Amino acid sequence: MEVDYSTIKVIGFDADDTLWVNETYFRDTEERFASLLEGYETKNKIDQELFKMEIKNLELYGYGIKGFVLSMVESALELSNNQVSQQTIGEILDLGKKMLLEPVELLDDVKTVLEQLKDDYRLIVLTKGDLLDQERKLEKSGLSAYFHHVEVLSDKKEDNYSQLLEHLQIDVKDFLMIGNSLKSDVLPLINIGAQAVHVPFHTTWQHEEVKVEENNYRYLKISKLSDILEYLK
Ligand SMILES: [Mg+2]
Repeated sequence: MEVDYSTIKVIGFDADDTLWVNETYFRDTEERFASLLEGYETKNKIDQELFKMEIKNLELYGYGIKGFVLSMVESALELSNNQVSQQTIGEILDLGKKMLLEPVELLDDVKTVLEQLKDDYRLIVLTKGDLLDQERKLEKSGLSAYFHHVEVLSDKKEDNYSQLLEHLQIDVKDFLMIGNSLKSDVLPLINIGAQAVHVPFHTTWQHEEVKVEENNYRYLKISKLSDILEYLK
């Protein structure tokens, strides 16, 4: 696709599954959760119930690991008809703590890309999730110094982006967002007149999946982050 990034001055990066691995830890924990409850339901049913619970609770808890843990506990109670043992509840809490303590694994070429872009563009991070957890991951990632600004949003919809760009005094025409979620990192930006690049990760949370007629939207899709260097500069 023909793209023109000549006006771009600020580049926003999504963090989870764009700069570092995230979704994989959720998939692994869902597996462990299902085996903890295998005495009560089939794996399929457990997966479905947990997902439904997460979506139901999203408005109250927001995105991130802590809300996910609470949804696992509530699902365990529901799936077991309140019969789940205190020990199992303890094991669920431990699964969540383990997730919060995972090392930060950078995706390929992240440092190279940031290094190449840092002098010519203002780089910022736009993520959603738990504030404390995202700050911890950024710190552990060793990437903080590349970014002028880090924003943890409660959601990534058109309004969230518009308000943030206004607050940071960034003109939409100057802004390019790069991320793995079509729904959260790409389409809202196109809709407000900014530009966006989609870099899919190998696994996507069901809630982030969206079907679009790709031809209706003008955005670039690349297979790995470093491909962006061909288009910028
Ligand atoms: Mg992401």
